[in-house]
Amino acid sequence: MATEFELIKRFFSRPVSAGLLGGGDDCALFGVTPGWQVATSTDLLLEGRHFFSDVDPRSLGHKALAVNLSDLAAMGARPLGCLLGLGLPAIDETWAQQFADGFYALADQHGCALIGGDTTRSLQGITLSVTVFGEVESSLALRRSAAQAGDDIWVSGTLGAADIACRMLAGEIPLDAALLQATRRALEWPTPQVELGMQLRSHAHAAIDISDGLLQDLGHILTASGVGAELYEPRLPIGPALNDLSTHTLPPEVLRRALLAGGDVYELCFTAAPAQRSSLEAIGHTLGVALTRIGTIRSAPGLVVYDQVGTAISKLPSGFDHFRI
Ligand code: ADP
Ligand code: MG
Repeated sequence: MATEFELIKRFFSRPVSAGLLGGGDDCALFGVTPGWQVATSTDLLLEGRHFFSDVDPRSLGHKALAVNLSDLAAMGARPLGCLLGLGLPAIDETWAQQFADGFYALADQHGCALIGGDTTRSLQGITLSVTVFGEVESSLALRRSAAQAGDDIWVSGTLGAADIACRMLAGEIPLDAALLQATRRALEWPTPQVELGMQLRSHAHAAIDISDGLLQDLGHILTASGVGAELYEPRLPIGPALNDLSTHTLPPEVLRRALLAGGDVYELCFTAAPAQRSSLEAIGHTLGVALTRIGTIRSAPGLVVYDQVGTAISKLPSGFDHFRI
């Protein structure tokens, strides 16, 4: 194995279903349902910045697609296909096979065909760029700007585990083997809430996926919608990994920061009218996804978080920003 073309042919050219034109021509082709719009999004992942160099290539393939599918989920879009840009320092067949296995397993699960890409040698480290395409019924996309005063604020799944795992691996908090084992999956194998996003289309107003931390991502909804919010810290959903172990090993401020500002979550935060509560509970139940009401949209701007005793937290942790010094 030596060339770029052999690499693509062997690892990234699995057949796609009828109606799509996949790799092998100058462009891929796909259609959308009449009356629906194309939803598209792209995400870059750089070695050393978005993933550790020694990460399992299977989980990297999974995550590179998962973070993009999560963007489709946040719009309520149905996945159609994706493009994969690969910058690799060298051709490593074992790495490519494992990466492709992780990528295709998730792509197949969501009917998101790999229909093309680009491959090049990089000068330093691995660079990944995935672009996804989905479709959403016109005017039913879940926009950030659609939150309304009085809406409930909901979050799917649980918060915080990926942040704790990431900080342990980065040496920012002490390594605790049991806690790492319990939280690592959340960091390396995030589950994009694609089905949930599609079901939310006719029940929710605004939605966003939590990639940079709950406060920051909810903040985008608030800004775009011109509203404010109240959150109740005791209601934030904590997974069993943190619930069982953290009380003994994690300082409360580390846990608070993980829940409120921890990134890499890939759950959905969305707003919906209180009249939707029972429908949303039924959706969560059917999908087997925990849906938790964590606060309320207010017409007055600003984001206030109340702690266990009902006091507004004065110093809130901040989310992730690539260019913050
Ligand atoms: P072009 O010269 O038109 O850019 P390339 O030689 O780069 O085409 O790619 C050849 C074919 O292989 C194209 O159809 C392209 O979409 C596909 N391809 C290249 N890299 C990848 C990849 N990493 N994953 C999937 N398909 C790929
Ligand atoms: Mg090319």
